Amino acid sequence: MPNPNSATGSDPAVRSYIADRRDEFIAELSEWLRIPSISADPAHSHDVSRSADWLAQRLLRAGFPSVEIWSTEGLPTVFAQWPSDDPLAPTVVLYGHHDVQPVDPVELWDTAPFEPLIRETEHGQQLVGRGSIDDKGQVFFHLLGLAAHMETTGRSTPAVNLKVLIEGEEESGSVHFAQLLRENRENLQCDVVVVSDTGVFRRDTISVCVGMRGLIEAQLDVVGPTGDLHSGSFGGSVPNPATVLGRIIARLHDSDGRVTLPGYYDNVIPLSDRERELLARLPFDEDRWLEAAQSTATQGESGFTTLERVWARPTAEVNGIWGGYMGPGGKTIIPSAAHAKLSFRLAAGQQPADVPPALDAWLSDLTDDGTIPAGITVTPHFERQGVRPCLTPLDHPALESVTRAMGRAFETEILYTREGGSGPEADLAEILEAPVVFLGVGLPDDRTHAPNEKADIDFLLRGAEAAAYLWADLAANWSPGSADA
Ligand SMILES: [Zn+2]
Repeated sequence: MPNPNSATGSDPAVRSYIADRRDEFIAELSEWLRIPSISADPAHSHDVSRSADWLAQRLLRAGFPSVEIWSTEGLPTVFAQWPSDDPLAPTVVLYGHHDVQPVDPVELWDTAPFEPLIRETEHGQQLVGRGSIDDKGQVFFHLLGLAAHMETTGRSTPAVNLKVLIEGEEESGSVHFAQLLRENRENLQCDVVVVSDTGVFRRDTISVCVGMRGLIEAQLDVVGPTGDLHSGSFGGSVPNPATVLGRIIARLHDSDGRVTLPGYYDNVIPLSDRERELLARLPFDEDRWLEAAQSTATQGESGFTTLERVWARPTAEVNGIWGGYMGPGGKTIIPSAAHAKLSFRLAAGQQPADVPPALDAWLSDLTDDGTIPAGITVTPHFERQGVRPCLTPLDHPALESVTRAMGRAFETEILYTREGGSGPEADLAEILEAPVVFLGVGLPDDRTHAPNEKADIDFLLRGAEAAAYLWADLAANWSPGSADA
């Protein structure tokens, strides 16, 4: 298998095509950034629509033969497609979003959030403004990359069947997105999803994200006597739900920091030696990470590093505990009930649907061993289905293409990261039944979601360059249709 990092270098024709259009790129992106498409604020819903219209016009001008604006019960998503003239070409859904975060607290911005401007820094020019990196800048570099791809390869259609899907509600929870994907599953049929909404590990450590953890949440209701009891009259002689809840929670992890739900780790895809080795090469600064965690010590499953624990291992966390009297002064009761909110971050291989039966089995074990005594009932509730984890194996051909494209654009070896949280990517992977790969050029100091959001213009242009290489590389190295035949 060829090492994806042994790719050839930058193509001077692609690089100069992009460099020649730098000013035009900044000017056009700035025009889009001036539209305050804040999805969370109903006062801006017209602006989100204007942003969708702007993008749709720009996609038409780029040559996409078909551009649609998909309205939802919420805010519009833009969909465009450009089929390849190559009958064996793989089909790609390119995902990003055109809505932006609110700007509050606006007084902490050095400049007006929707009047983008260029700042000269030691790292070169930066474009400051809401949406510059998250995510309009990363959507827009694809248009430049696509133009460079077609121009330098002499093609009249892209090397892949390209379907562009740019959401309008990502920053407000993607509430209608899963439904939109289900309703348009036919239109969105694809071999791979490329997401451009993430970043690299560090300015000097260029990386590609390969997966995200899943999530499922539960509430435990621990109920004893039907009403609060006087602790003088009854204390010491009936089980106390708050005490029992404490014992239950104390059993959630063993002394190695492993979650004790039966079978919880059975389907976890173990980290490969290669990925562990590559993760270990990331210049991770645990002290700075602890500062961000506002903690003085790390803790977790033994045998794993902090990055492995956060990115690739499952968890069980107690998010809140309550019950009994919590007001001022004291109240001498045995509470009738106590409650806890739990959440489980799921590693690749696990399914949210496996957690409720595992929790039931665990509670029944705790009943058998006396942790949950007679006179107490414990009921778990799962309000939502949860989110599946996603992971693209390091040897997946689409990931190898992204790695080569990034390696050529940045002229460096590409390392791998994962994300501990999850977003609409999990819906894309699950509903479209396709692997997700990430082509993102954000930097840790881009201040996404914060005042003074910025994008390094050179990074956006490297993103365009990587995008220019990606389509031809995917088409040359992967024809899923023929492979299946
Ligand atoms: Zn984003």
